[in-house]
This record gives sequence, structure tokens and C-alpha cells, in this order.
Amino acid sequence: MSDRVWETPETCYMEKLSAAAHREMLEAQGFAITENVADIPTALIGEAGEGGPIIAFLGEYDALAGLSQKAGLASHEPIVAGANGHGCGHNLLGSASLLAATALKDWLEETGTPGRVRYYGCPAEEGGAAKAFMVRAGAFEDVDIAISWHPSNFAGVQRETSLANCRIDFSFTGRAAHAAAVPELGRSALDAVELMNVGINYMREHMPSDCRIHYAVLDAGGISPNVVQAYAKVRYVVRAPELPGLLSLIERVKKVAEGAALMTETKVESTILAGVSNLIVNAPLMDVMQDVWDSIGPPPFEEEDRAFAEKIRATLTPQDISASWNQERLEERDVPLADFILPPHNENRQMGGSTDVGDVSWVVPTVQAYGATLAVGTQLHTWQVVAQGKSPLAHKGMISAAKAMAATGLAAIESEQLREAAWADLKKRRKGQVYTSPIPPGAEPPVAAMTVK
Ligand SMILES: [Zn+2]
Repeated sequence: MSDRVWETPETCYMEKLSAAAHREMLEAQGFAITENVADIPTALIGEAGEGGPIIAFLGEYDALAGLSQKAGLASHEPIVAGANGHGCGHNLLGSASLLAATALKDWLEETGTPGRVRYYGCPAEEGGAAKAFMVRAGAFEDVDIAISWHPSNFAGVQRETSLANCRIDFSFTGRAAHAAAVPELGRSALDAVELMNVGINYMREHMPSDCRIHYAVLDAGGISPNVVQAYAKVRYVVRAPELPGLLSLIERVKKVAEGAALMTETKVESTILAGVSNLIVNAPLMDVMQDVWDSIGPPPFEEEDRAFAEKIRATLTPQDISASWNQERLEERDVPLADFILPPHNENRQMGGSTDVGDVSWVVPTVQAYGATLAVGTQLHTWQVVAQGKSPLAHKGMISAAKAMAATGLAAIESEQLREAAWADLKKRRKGQVYTSPIPPGAEPPVAAMTVK
């Protein structure tokens, strides 16, 4: 199924074939299906079992634009130039989570143990924040424990937290005029965008240093310098370590936009497209998953796997390879594939990016694995990830990750004490804060907005 999803790479809320592949597999394995979760056409849930605690396995299957690449090659060769590709390994991600859910379902059936297993098919992880919409719709309200993973260079427990983020479009409207004959009649929306960006660049000095703000101009108002641009649009991504800090930073960004509109006598409208919360890790669940990984050990890579990984590594820079070891605070070694399990030493470390698993982690104790599916040094969102996505080494890493997730889920089904400890840890880490969705009340999943620009 992972190979099938790899072959039909679809992005952000457009994952029709990929979601269908997951639905077919869930049906074949005897799961009851709920489609159109949170009014998202490519989101689905499969459930099996009766009574007992509910264990959720989170899967993803969205691809990235522009990363088309032939499988099994150690050189950059797109299948179709500019087309989509699975540059974050989400073909493996969804499949391993479904495999883990199936293994636990089979165990419940065979042993007659009360308990329910759910597979959550979550689209649009890359910039679409589907899980945040699914949380808002109440899809996780009765879940006891959530488990997921991500393809990586290494195998082990994911211990880093991630940033909360928000995507906002600012649309400025001014008045067109002949830029030479009657410039005094024009009000430039493009000027407003430029001034907003300048204002944000000045604001950076006066915001917390662990926050991030980036922007892309989506519409500069046209290609004619002799026309005063009446319309312009800029998309912002704002990131902060925690949700409350994000919400206050967004208010400051909005003030800068209003200031730019005031300066240029234009009007500004802001639309929040999507937002995700920071990730809350869970110590009791990480401890259990660490024990599980230590007993499973690294994926059973073979000589051919190492040979292919070496070819991929020949396309990487020494800096790429060092970055992978540095990210995990490990001393660099000359191995093509991870032959060990990550030690338990990275808790409380912040990773630069964001994930919509964050929203799930605010409402359900959540634990995530890393699976070794890539040559050491491979960076996510590159053609090298796509090239390795169907390889035997990726399959071995994926199946190991499924085992680690299934065994962690089994421990959570069997131990009420573990579930209670996991909930107590979540409450402690929320520090009394109530989960506030980073998505504004009336906002819908940005299915249409993501397909244009
Ligand atoms: Zn990813």
C-alpha cells in the first residue's frame, strides 16, 4: 500500500487516490469506516474492537509539490518535471500506522480483550493542518492514547517538541491609476505589502528569539509598473514555541498590517488559513516506547540496503550528514544506515518545524516514533527521500516502526496505570492552559484555498 500511495502523490486536501487506498485496506481488514471526518473529503477513520480503552493510530498520506523523482535511483531524475513527490515519506507514514492498527486489532480479536483501535487517516499535514480541524470537530474526544511516527534517518522515540504555527493571508485593496499621469489618484496595495514586510522585519528584533515569521508574496498586483497596483496579497507563517505566545504574536503581526494600510490609505483583510499547536510530549508513553524499541532493535537492514544507502549518501554534502547527527545530539559515525536505537536523551528539545500532531497532543496523551527509512544524512523534503520511498530499506524501517507503535498501543490497552500516568503528565505539561484552537471559529478546512497558489 505504501508503494501504491507513493505512485499517486497528491498534495494538501487533494489526496483522493491515497485516501481511497487506505479506505480499501481498512475495509479489507474489517474496520468500520467513517468518511468525511470534520467535513474533509480525504479524512477518514477506521475502527475495530469493543469496549475498553480507545487507542488511536495517526496516519498521513499527503505529498509535496515539485518533488517528482524516480524510485531507486541515486541521481536527481524527475518522473514528470515539476510534479508532486513523496518528499516527506508520508506514503510510508500512513501505511505503517494502518499496519500497527491492524496488528493491535488482530491481537484484541485473538485474545478477546476489550478495547478499541482506531486508524485516523489525516490528510494535508504539509501546511493544511487537517488534524487541527479534526480536533476542533471533536474527532478525538473519546480517545485514551494517540500514537504516530515519522520516517527519519534513525529509529527510536520522538522526544522533541515542535512550534505552534499559523498561516494568514493579508489582502490589501487600494485604487488603480495611471502611475505617471495621475499618480495622486492611486493608492498602491503593493506598497502596503512592502511596508508590512518592512515593519515585520523591524519587529523581529523585539519578539522572542525562538519565534519565527516568514512570508511569501502571492500577488504583487500585476506586471505593469505604469499602473498603481490596486490589489496585492501576502501570505504569512507565524511560529512560536507555545500556543498562547503564538496568539499574541499574531495580534502584533495584524497591527503591522493595519499600520501598512493606514500609511498607504488602502484596506486590509486577513484570513487565517490554518494553524497548528505546539507538540506536547508525554514522559510515561515515551518510556514505554523506548523499552519497546530497545527490545525490537534497529531494522534488519541487509547488504543491498547498505549499498543503496551509500549511493544516496554520495549525493549528500558532508554538512547534510553532520546535520542529521547534530539534530539528535549524537557523535557522528560513518554508517550508511542506522544500526542502533536512539538513546533517551533529547527531551525538551525544540525542533524548528511544526506539525498538526501538536493539536492532537493537547487533547490526548500522544507519543511518536521515528522510523529509520532513509540513508543517514538524508534531509526531509528532498528528492533523495522520494528516491528511497519504495526501497527495501524503507520497507524494513516502516515495518519496524509499525511494530514499535503496535507494541506501545498494546501496553496502553493492558495497563490502566499507564493510561492514568499519561493523562496526569499531559495535564501537568498543559500548565493549567486550556486548549484553544489556533483556527478561528468560522474558518473551514482550506480545501479550495490550497489548490490556487
Ligand atoms: Zn512529514
